[in-house]
Amino acid sequence: MKIGIDLGTCNSVVFIPKKGVVLQEPSVVAVSLSENKILAVGERAKEMIGRTPETIRIYRPLKDGVIADFRVTQAMLKYFIDKVAGRWRFFKPELMIGVPAGITSTERRAVIEAGMNAGAKAVYLVKEPILAAIGAGIPINSCSGNMVVDIGGGTSEIAVISLGGIVTCHSIRVAGDEIDTAISEYIKKKYNLAIGEQTAEIIKIKIGTALSEKEEKKIEIRGRDLILGLPRNIRISANEISEAISETLAEIIQVIKSVLRETPPELSADIMDKGMVLTGGGSLLRNLPELIAQSTGVPSTLAEEPMLSVAKGTGVVLENLDLYKKSIMVKK
Ligand code: ADP
Ligand code: MG
Repeated sequence: MKIGIDLGTCNSVVFIPKKGVVLQEPSVVAVSLSENKILAVGERAKEMIGRTPETIRIYRPLKDGVIADFRVTQAMLKYFIDKVAGRWRFFKPELMIGVPAGITSTERRAVIEAGMNAGAKAVYLVKEPILAAIGAGIPINSCSGNMVVDIGGGTSEIAVISLGGIVTCHSIRVAGDEIDTAISEYIKKKYNLAIGEQTAEIIKIKIGTALSEKEEKKIEIRGRDLILGLPRNIRISANEISEAISETLAEIIQVIKSVLRETPPELSADIMDKGMVLTGGGSLLRNLPELIAQSTGVPSTLAEEPMLSVAKGTGVVLENLDLYKKSIMVKK
């Protein structure tokens, strides 16, 4: 059995060849400290964020796409594998896991070890920008240049790919989570209101936009008044959010520009023609492709189901292992 995993900082997605995406859950684990036991993983653990007593601790065991807490990551991986492959399976599965392009050898070994300890027969690693491109349907083995911008929770990774390999790549620790933080900071400053990280994310998903709009959406939110200490409701509008997050988006765009500047001329010409493809959950922010296209002068399109691109990429590679084995597998 072969299983492909996008082990993201925010969300994990599992793909099984011929079945497709079989699991998509937040990379979150709730642990009971008194019993030293896992209480919940994924969606159920994420719901507990900001609501836990002292005896329960919530972990997001990955940071910037790499393992920050080994034990918890391993337990989470095991939980996901058991869930999709059955706990009493007879054969050990082969795992393909996406890793950031800039991962160090120590970080690589940690991913392999976590996978092996979670019950795998073998663990293959492939760089995420390559998987994202394959998953988005880009023919990566052609000699034409292709650009992928993956905006996740913790990091944005921008890569130019040609002939199956990465030609230029940059990554920054500014992505979806940082946008949430910008929203809470803005509300704190303007309205003296403290909101939780979940609320900030909901605001972003429901009304957030990268460009201000004529017909703007509004949303009513509840927070804690910073002066009185009591709950208070406010109505906030989409254009306020676009103002709140504009600097954070500018940081991401700055890095896209520097990748474009460092791209060899033949490949930039290809990219000018075809445009860049956006993947990752952060790219779902409304009007983000438009803002990026305006600021860089390069056409930008959103991948189909951008949150699933990396996992779909693992599926394509697993289904055609012979074709890809030599070229894209990361060496141990
Ligand atoms: P990672 O690869 O780091 O796990 P994902 O690709 O799963 O990250 O993306 C997670 C990020 O996408 C989060 O910051 C989340 O808030 C954001 N996100 C998800 N859906 C939307 C949406 N509709 N609009 C804006 N941001 C979104
Ligand atoms: Mg990701």
